[in-house]
Amino acid sequence: MTDHKGTPVFIGVGSNLEDPRAQARKAVAALSALRGCHILAISSWYVSKAVGPGSQPDYVNGVVALLTTLSPYQLLDHLQHIESHQGRVRTVRWGPRTLDLDVLNYGDLVLNDIRLTLPHPGLADRNFVLLPLAEIAPDLVLADGRRVPDLLAKCSFEGIVRLPVGD
Ligand code: ATP
Ligand code: CA
Ligand code: CA
Repeated sequence: MTDHKGTPVFIGVGSNLEDPRAQARKAVAALSALRGCHILAISSWYVSKAVGPGSQPDYVNGVVALLTTLSPYQLLDHLQHIESHQGRVRTVRWGPRTLDLDVLNYGDLVLNDIRLTLPHPGLADRNFVLLPLAEIAPDLVLADGRRVPDLLAKCSFEGIVRLPVGD
């Protein structure tokens, strides 16, 4: 067995355009091909209604755990490159998208600058992030000290459906 080194990172994966499940799976393949990244776990996929502006197709969301030797900015560059490669066009904020990759937590790093906020600010209010995160890291303590089980206990599970494994 190879011993992988690096910082444990959780990436939120989301899509609501052009076959979201296929987009999500393709994104996982792209993440696993990244140099300096080693995937540790992949959650189930969860379907939920869009919360952004206007009427939008349902979302598919999941979370990937990996070890990385990349810096948070290098990682974000790669994530944005994968998003563009899968046809992400940035128009309206929170508008529909083929792929969204967010860094949810990067080791014990707390950061708030123009490009990166860590842990990801939306995490605690989003069941479509918390549920898959808790599935693969039920005891996780975020970099800012908040505990995933505590956040999960305050979160509503309404309107979210977990897809069967392999779907
Ligand atoms: P939200 O961030 O509320 O989930 P969004 O994912 O739709 O919204 P984007 O348009 O994908 O937002 O990203 C806007 C900017 O957010 C990016 O250009 C990036 O620099 C910044 N950003 C800040 N923190 C993070 C993070 N933890 N992960 C990914 N992007 C981040
Ligand atoms: Ca997002
Ligand atoms: Ca994003």
